[in-house]
Amino acid sequence: MSTGPSKKQLNITVVGAGIVGAAIAYSLAKRGAAVTVIDRGRPGGGATSHSFAWINATAKHPVSYHNFNRRSLGMWDRFAKDFDTDVGLRWGGQMEWVATGESAKELESRAAQLQAWGYPCQMLDGVQMAQLEPGLTPGTVTAAIYCELDGMVEPTVAAEACIKAATKHGASVELETEVSSLKVDSSSATVVAGGETIAADVVVLAGGVDNTQLAAMAGITIPQQDSPGVVIRTNPISQPLLTHVSVVYAPPLESGRPEIHLRQCLDGSALIGEGTQESLARNDTQLHADELLARAAEYVPGLKGASAVPVSVGYRPMPLDGFPVIGFSPKAPNVYLALTHSGVTLAPMMAQMATMEIVDGANVDLLADYRPSRFD
Ligand SMILES: Cc1cc2nc3c(=O)[nH]c(=O)nc-3n(C[C@H](O)[C@H](O)[C@H](O)COP(=O)(O)OP(=O)(O)OC[C@H]3O[C@@H](n4cnc5c(N)ncnc54)[C@H](O)[C@@H]3O)c2cc1C
Repeated sequence: MSTGPSKKQLNITVVGAGIVGAAIAYSLAKRGAAVTVIDRGRPGGGATSHSFAWINATAKHPVSYHNFNRRSLGMWDRFAKDFDTDVGLRWGGQMEWVATGESAKELESRAAQLQAWGYPCQMLDGVQMAQLEPGLTPGTVTAAIYCELDGMVEPTVAAEACIKAATKHGASVELETEVSSLKVDSSSATVVAGGETIAADVVVLAGGVDNTQLAAMAGITIPQQDSPGVVIRTNPISQPLLTHVSVVYAPPLESGRPEIHLRQCLDGSALIGEGTQESLARNDTQLHADELLARAAEYVPGLKGASAVPVSVGYRPMPLDGFPVIGFSPKAPNVYLALTHSGVTLAPMMAQMATMEIVDGANVDLLADYRPSRFD
């Protein structure tokens, strides 16, 4: 049932059923818009399926962007409650430790910065670490932190749940259908998809890395960085790998190598990546997956005996300056852009803000730094 006031029903086409487009489609349909979702693949099959899906405001700068992520993090519980399926939303926080004096200083200053921003992040000693995660074998620890608010989700399950819920609110969904053209005039936006011409009051472009190309069809410039990343998966492991926390970041085993991050999914499989959330990686071979798993097993003994499933390189949607792109473009007034890194963390926020701007005609001040026009 629509929760909005009675007025002319908007026709909206959403291009892309990743976590961002699916969340927006759901939110718009819930507000009573007539939504058509088009994806050339399946819901959550793009970057969303490659994501480590750590919900966090921990690794976000400057403070305005940190607060933006924190706000979305705080919306996830309520957002996930709308679905009749378990989307794997789990809290528990992030624990990170380092093994050198230099990294300890960096971690201490990061914790102090997060505390100054009002984000709970405490330094842990060895005893506290062991209390939190008794099963880990952390090796040398020069400093450790715990950010208790962070969580995780199964992003493809969440995208599927959004699409299913959107259809319950009347949305129509066209999958395995590619948008090949987009035309805009002063009162409408029309896409051609799978040979069909679909006119709408507004088109939302949530095509992830392909948003640059989609936006160009309407004369809009949205440059992106090439941002490949690799997160490997293990077979499902029946016992819990972690006791309390959802995400761990462990130091490199040898100097010069990247740090390792790990979480356990709803089906028991572990996701393991290396480096930061923005590190570039292209090695998606079995050899690399085996080696990464072996390194992680040094810290997480529950991984011993697991087998590594290589996952192909994923490409992060990554605007050129690293910050979200959200809003109508002055160049094409019926085209609404939604493109971001950290889209798993930010999906509830992107959906709520986009809905207010499209359905209510609001101009959300909070989005001022993230407007598409900054690239004009
Ligand atoms: C390795 C890696 C690790 C990550 N880790 C995290 C993390 O820990 N936390 C976090 O918050 N975020 C993380 N991210 C980022 C996050 O996953 C993305 O920001 C998010 O998934 C983007 O969702 P999206 O819906 O915008 O894009 P996508 O999931 O890529 O969806 C876009 C959709 O558009 C469709 N599409 C494109 N062009 C067309 C067309 N012409 N016609 C029809 N359909 C089209 C595609 O088929 C696709 O389904 C990570 C990403 C990667 C790759």
